[in-house]
Amino acid sequence: MPDFDLLVRARTPDDSPLALGITDGVIAAAGPELHGSATEEHDFGAAVLLPGWIDAHVHFNEPGRADWEGLHSGSLALAAGGGTTFFDMPLNSTPPVVTRATLEEKRRIAEETSHLDFALWGGLTPDSLPFLEPMAEAGAVGFKAFMCHSGLDEFPAADARTLNSGMRIAKSLGLPVAVHAELPHPVDVSGKDMAAWLASRPIFFELDAIALALEIAGETGASLHIVHVTCPEGIDLVSEAKARGVDVTVETCPHYLLLDRQDAARIGPAAKCAPPLRSNETLRRMWDKLLTGEIDTIGSDHSPSPPDLKQGDDIFAMWGGIAGIQHGLPLMLSRSAGFLPQISSNVAERFRINGKGGLLPGNDADFFLLEPTDRGIATSDLITRHAISPYIGMKPRFAVTSTWLRGRRVTAETRGRFLTPTRS
Ligand SMILES: [Zn+2]
Repeated sequence: MPDFDLLVRARTPDDSPLALGITDGVIAAAGPELHGSATEEHDFGAAVLLPGWIDAHVHFNEPGRADWEGLHSGSLALAAGGGTTFFDMPLNSTPPVVTRATLEEKRRIAEETSHLDFALWGGLTPDSLPFLEPMAEAGAVGFKAFMCHSGLDEFPAADARTLNSGMRIAKSLGLPVAVHAELPHPVDVSGKDMAAWLASRPIFFELDAIALALEIAGETGASLHIVHVTCPEGIDLVSEAKARGVDVTVETCPHYLLLDRQDAARIGPAAKCAPPLRSNETLRRMWDKLLTGEIDTIGSDHSPSPPDLKQGDDIFAMWGGIAGIQHGLPLMLSRSAGFLPQISSNVAERFRINGKGGLLPGNDADFFLLEPTDRGIATSDLITRHAISPYIGMKPRFAVTSTWLRGRRVTAETRGRFLTPTRS
């Protein structure tokens, strides 16, 4: 009998040999050289093999808004960008996931439709407090709250009182709370263009919200995950809180590392997001924070919409959200591969997903291959529901050539599995 079902050979990012022996979809052995027989072997030559991205922050919008993206197109686009697992946010699917029944309904649809493994966030809103425990029972990976208007009236913001109660309940359930951290204040902004949008949500909105969330997490002892922080000042607040013992992690997104204010002005509505894109100096310092490990995870915050919601003269009236799931990671890897824990092991550990999170024996054989390219990104490359991306025309040095989930190449035939956390 062969030693492995599958034996793959490729290279590490620093061009050393790497071999994986895989049995029953799980990594049985990993090292520079593996001796042993296998039913199937693939030698990928000079291609670089990397752990699959566990993207803990996507909006695939199903059920209810599958015309914005959907689990089929969204999961295939994520796979094309190096992803093997995603955690879907409780909005902008509709109804949003704020009860056990809505979580179970999304799970049912995703088990039929997703091509990647997945976990599901529940929503923390002023009305959902009684439903946190039932959502935990149904397998929620954690609870997401907005500290400002979410963009949808059906998913109201959590005020400090709701956050306080929600974090206490989440702590008792052994699950984390994730927050969109912006606290709006009145600001003097005129105009309806991108420059006005960028000026309307300054960094201090974020810092105020992060400080409040950290305070409540410290008081309640809850696990806090702050999503899409855009600025090094915000990362510093998190690092200081970690040093005083607060159980907190922080995410940023590829667009806050790849696109600055000038890009936003050039790209237009496809680059509208909240918090907004920042200065080039901020972006440069965010790379430092990432590469020193002060940023814990990278999530796409893929938040697409139909093209008609991105049109008009008033940027404030347009849908805010960046649809970049297919190219964000390869573009980042074109600059550095110094953040692999932030796309794999850190995410699995933070959210207690057993059997995922890196190229180690015992983990699922989830990986992708990267090869050099000289092609710029074209609209015709996009396999998302709508051909919208802020990265059109950019030139990555590397392209994802295949993605593998549990030891099999991801195709439209691949079926994803529902993942649940080990609760603390
Ligand atoms: Zn989001």
